[in-house]
Parts: sequence; structure tokens; C-alpha cells
Amino acid sequence: MNVLPFDGHAIAPETAAFLGGQHRLLIDGAWVDGSGEHVTRDPATGLELARFATGGAAEVDAAVAAARRAFHGAWGRMTVSDRTAILFRLARIMEANARLLTELDIVDNGMPGFIAGLTTANCVEMVDYYAGAVMRIEGTTTAPPRHIAAETEALTYTLREPVGVAGLIVPWNVPLSTAILKLAPALAAGCTVVMKPSEETPLSVLALGQMILDAGFPAGVVNIVNGFGGDCGAALAAHPGVDKISFTGSTVTGKKIVQAALGNLKKVSLELGGKSPVVVMPDADLALAVPGVALATFFLQGQNCMAGTRIFAHEAVHDALVEGVAAFAAGMKLGHGLDPATMQGPMISDAHSAKVMGYIEAGKAAGATLVCGGEKLDRPGNFIPPTIFADCRPDMSIVHDEIFGPVMAVQKFATTDLDAIADLANDTPFGLSGSVWTSDLSTAHRMVKRIRAGHVSINCHGAVGTNIPFGGFGQSGWGREFGREGLDAYLETKAVTARL
Ligand code: NAD
Repeated sequence: MNVLPFDGHAIAPETAAFLGGQHRLLIDGAWVDGSGEHVTRDPATGLELARFATGGAAEVDAAVAAARRAFHGAWGRMTVSDRTAILFRLARIMEANARLLTELDIVDNGMPGFIAGLTTANCVEMVDYYAGAVMRIEGTTTAPPRHIAAETEALTYTLREPVGVAGLIVPWNVPLSTAILKLAPALAAGCTVVMKPSEETPLSVLALGQMILDAGFPAGVVNIVNGFGGDCGAALAAHPGVDKISFTGSTVTGKKIVQAALGNLKKVSLELGGKSPVVVMPDADLALAVPGVALATFFLQGQNCMAGTRIFAHEAVHDALVEGVAAFAAGMKLGHGLDPATMQGPMISDAHSAKVMGYIEAGKAAGATLVCGGEKLDRPGNFIPPTIFADCRPDMSIVHDEIFGPVMAVQKFATTDLDAIADLANDTPFGLSGSVWTSDLSTAHRMVKRIRAGHVSINCHGAVGTNIPFGGFGQSGWGREFGREGLDAYLETKAVTARL
């Protein structure tokens, strides 16, 4: 058994056993070797967790071929009742293995345990939700075309059919969750899939792969090919046998996915980056706003696509807000995710930590006022404490770039003109999320209408849920995940007219 020093915190025997096992590729219902190998590390300690197989174009080819066979074979022929049942079965297996899934995301990603526990529970709920949606996939009837109806009785209706083989490419920041929110609706729709987890965090998705086999999915319905973006991911995005790509990741990579998809004009869904505004009005309830604004930025150590990192505070509340958020941040315990007291974990990697620290140095050099944080902790792992910059200007890189770290950029405003405030909030190419903090319901809804983003919260931030559509305006992406729209993303509409 693999006993690893997680800063002195224990892991469950099943997690230790999993880490000590082999980590291969899931292709056509079997675990197979890859053409390469990579190491994944505990970002809180830097220590090696596991070695795992990686694949490239050849493995992607094999996986796509298996997915195509399953699409036209056992999966395509399965009744919707059986498809529902097998998805519910998967949810129960995940539920029974919740501790394993949670601990794998903690040690592989570095996220605090309270977040990993929440996301595992949400993943189970999401599989249940889409299992329940299978039998509600419905077409419509409509009037037949005039030239046919004029001659004879006729009937026109629509069918909803699966889009085909779906390539699912996911990031490292919420490994299981970003995988499930594609996998569950894709399978519910009747698609077969080839999934590529992030090379940084392969483990929870590999554990899920075994659960998929245990649930009894036919061979080839779900294939998992770990690997690097430039070869494995790029091969999947460009593959002529793939009908749809659903991608979550950076906006830079999203644009490459679109280019790669051009060859066979595959359908593309994109969930990309953000730089979300948090607008704090003069009448905001600071008892709510202080912790809410702090967590808008620092939740998941800022490695969060929805992170509210551009704070716009009215001058009437600015100083109290900034002081309050700094005091809240000072109370956030940084540490290993397995420690129940941990509120913030490490950056995912040395490279990412260096990028975040580069932005912090740029903020200092540009003249923003450093309120707290700003220096990496002197300990193993890449721990960057909550960092707040005040007196920021729109031209600063800490204000306009997605940093993906615990860095808050605060700007003060004096006006109460909602259009002027919205101009500040909307000064970004992104449009993923946002929030408004006010005690006036009318102001709240008027501001929501003015913010250009796919998901806006009032007196809370990033309040996403299984049934709530989520996605971006502008360069934050194409399409929506979660809820009914998440299922529609894997369905085609076929119109049928019959002369009777
Ligand atoms: P990334 O774009 O570097 O990588 C995402 C995935 O794409 C990985 O699996 C990677 O291997 C793969 N990839 C990289 N290059 C590729 C290529 N040329 N072709 C095909 N695949 C390729 O992103 P990341 O660093 O893993 O994740 C962080 C980013 O994800 C942030 O920008 C964040 O905002 C975004 N994100 C968005 C959402 C959302 O729902 N909008 C959710 C989570 C993360």
C-alpha cells in the first residue's frame, strides 16, 4: 500500500490503494497501456502521487473508433429505460465511493476538503439529474408544409437525436466536476464520449472510469485518454470522427479548439476564462458583502473561472469593505486540503505559481496599493496568500487579465449612475459571471440587466447549480452547461414530414 506524507493527514485505505495501483487509459471497455507516461504531484507538498499512462494521436484514434462502434452498436440500441437505469446506477456507485473521489481531488488538485466534498456531492446530483432527464428528451409536432398539406393529409414532428461521438476536454481546476458536467448530459443524450482530463489532475476521472465499468456501460461508450493538450487534446479536437467537442479551459486554448474543429465543422461548446466584476453599491450590507466579496475572489484559491476579481466599490463603503475583506483574508487558513481547517490551498504547479506571482509583481510595479498578501509563503508547495490591491486602474494587467490566483483588484467609484457603473463592470472581453451587492432590490435588478455576463448573482457570487444554465458572453465561451441547456448541447433536432 502506498503511504504518502500528506502533511501528516490521513487518507482512506481505498484512496491509498487507488494511488498505489496502475493508471492506464480506458479504451473500448478495457484499461490499456499508453504510448507515454507522466507524473502527477500533490501540489501542497510537491511530492509524487502517481504515474499515469498518456496517449497521443494513435490512442485518440482507437478511442474514437471504439466510441463510434458503441454509438452505432450497444449504446445506440439501448432503450431509454436502460439508459436511465445505468446512469442512476453510476450515481449510486459514485455516492458509495464519495470519499475516494473527494480525496483524489484534494490531493491531486490541492483544493480544500470542504470544496472537494461539495463538488463530489454536486457531481452525484448531476448524474441523477441527467439520468432523470433521459425520458424527458422530447420533440414537438407542428403544421406540415403548405404544399404537402394542400395535397394530402400530412404530419410533421421533430425528433431529438444524440449528436454522436463527443470529445470532452477538461481543465484541472475542478477535475471531477468539469468532467461530470459534460459526461452526464452527453450520456443522457445518447452520445458516446472520448474524454481527455488535464495532465495536471488525471486521478479522480480515472477512478470514475472504473465506476463507469462497474455500472455496466457497454464497451466504448466512455473512453478516457489522458495526455497533453498539444498532442492528445489537439488530436481529439481535430479528429474527423468526432462530431462534437465540449471544451472547458482557457480562452487561448479555446480559440485553438475552434481552429482544429474547422476540418469537419464539428459542433463546439466552449466554457472559457473570466475576469468577473463584483459591484458593491453604497447601500450594500457589509455584513454580507465582506465575506461574500472575499470568497468571490479567494474561493478555490482564485483558480476559479467564475472568480470575482475586479471589485468596484462605491466610495461610501470602499474603505470599510477593503478593511473587512483584508481581515477576513487574514483569517483564512492556508494549508493541505486534507486538514479540515484549511480554507485555501496551493497553486496547482510551479509554473502557474510563477505566473500568478508575475502578475502580483506587475501590480506592485504599476503602482497599485498592496493591502495584504503579495509574497509567496516560504514552505513546500506553492502557497500564495490572499492578495488585495486597492487603487487599481483599468490599464493595469491585474485588472484586465485572468490571473487564476488569489489576487483581488479593487477600484473605487463615486457615481450612482448605473450606466456609468456598468461601463466600468463591462470593460472586459470576458462575460462569465458577476455580482451586485445592494440592499435595494430595484437597484439590484437594474444593475443585473446592465452587466454583460452569463451568470449574475445578487448579494452572493457564483451561485451555480445543477439545474441552472451556466456559460459565458463574449470571450468567455459558446453555449451553456448545466440544466436543460446542458443536455440540448448534445442533441440534434431532426424534422420529419410524412404524407399520410
Ligand atoms: P487549458 O486551456 O490550459 O487546458 C484545458 C484543457 O485543454 C487541458 O486538458 C489541456 O490539456 C487541454 N489543451 C491544452 N492545449 C490544447 C490544444 N491545443 N488542443 C486541445 N486541448 C488542449 O486550461 P487550464 O489551465 O487547464 O484551466 C484553466 C482555465 O480554464 C482558466 O482560463 C479558467 O477560467 C478556465 N475554466 C473555465 C470554466 C468555465 O466553466 N467557463 C471552468 C473551469 C475552468
